Amino acid sequence: MRKKIVAGNWKMNKTYQDALALVSEIDNMVKDEVTGDNVEVIVTPPFPFLQSVGKLIQGNDRLHLAAQDVSAHESGAYTGEVSAAMLQSVGVEYVLVGHSERRQYHHEDADLLLKKMKAALGQGIKPIFCCGEPLEVRESEKHFEYVGQQLRETVGHLSNEEFDQIVIAYEPIWAIGTGRTASSQQAQEMHAYIREELSRLFDAEAAYNKTILYGGSANPANARELFSQPDVDGGLIGGASLKSRDFTDIIKSF
Ligand code: 13P
Repeated sequence: MRKKIVAGNWKMNKTYQDALALVSEIDNMVKDEVTGDNVEVIVTPPFPFLQSVGKLIQGNDRLHLAAQDVSAHESGAYTGEVSAAMLQSVGVEYVLVGHSERRQYHHEDADLLLKKMKAALGQGIKPIFCCGEPLEVRESEKHFEYVGQQLRETVGHLSNEEFDQIVIAYEPIWAIGTGRTASSQQAQEMHAYIREELSRLFDAEAAYNKTILYGGSANPANARELFSQPDVDGGLIGGASLKSRDFTDIIKSF
């Protein structure tokens, strides 16, 4: 059975104290309320909080730690960068790669994203690869083509073994932080398309088994409908992951 995942991307929010308070609430709520053994929960705090958050969730098998970014470089004179080996050494299991905010504000291109994925994979960290189209592409009905290209130029260059380690997240840019969620039908048809494209790039079985998350204004009110779609295997949650009650309710929406 495909693994189901709900990942909270905290982005650039919270102080150290607030981050620890949030994660301990999530830890308790998940322990008390989340049943079933096929749902994995990921928290993605900012870099300075990774180690402490990691320690706090250590005793909870369901909770996993992700970083928001990783350097493409191994080590050395790259001021401000954080390497995959550093992340691995503080217990990071996943890393976001290709988030639209990094593509847009930091001009990360396909070549760099592939290098980042390879750097993470080299340290046993699993990339959560994000893709998704901007509004004008959706409006001109070129969204399938656009997302297909994003996959071919990055994920398409991974080996079969590397591909097995990654998670895909579809996040239409027009839905991120806007309150305008993709409809469950829009999400389902894109997820099905992504799976089809992955089966062309790899094989049908690998594509079938791939966890594909939806992200973009997901919340407790719309998560059940989104997660009930056959090709939607969970969510990458921004705003709603900053509130323990909302995040836990989303986790319980399968
Ligand atoms: P929102 O849930 O705030 O729209 O953010 C989605 C996102 O970008 C998660 O990575």
